[in-house]
Amino acid sequence: MTSLLTTFLTPADTSATELPCHDTEAAELFFSERPAELEEAKALCAQCPLLAECRQGALDRAEPWGVWGGAIFDSGRIIAVKRGRGRPRKNPVQDAA
Ligand code: SF4
Repeated sequence: MTSLLTTFLTPADTSATELPCHDTEAAELFFSERPAELEEAKALCAQCPLLAECRQGALDRAEPWGVWGGAIFDSGRIIAVKRGRGRPRKNPVQDAA
């Protein structure tokens, strides 16, 4: 993530080391499989001065996953929530046709 962020950071901008996602304690939250941790990452983004630029960059790059710019990405698109892993279905889904 560091190399991607530095592509749009200039020396006059906030130092990459000051970004919430670069905190070593918090970095894993941004790519977690757990919905609650992704929400924590989104809350950290809310404090970030690069939120808008980060989100647009992630859209432009079609980020496959993770929290970018305060949003959860999945296959290059922003999704509202990420579902946690669940138990597999007990019964097969019936075809509607
Ligand atoms: S908006 Fe979030 S992911 Fe983007 S640079 Fe800021 S803290 Fe990191």
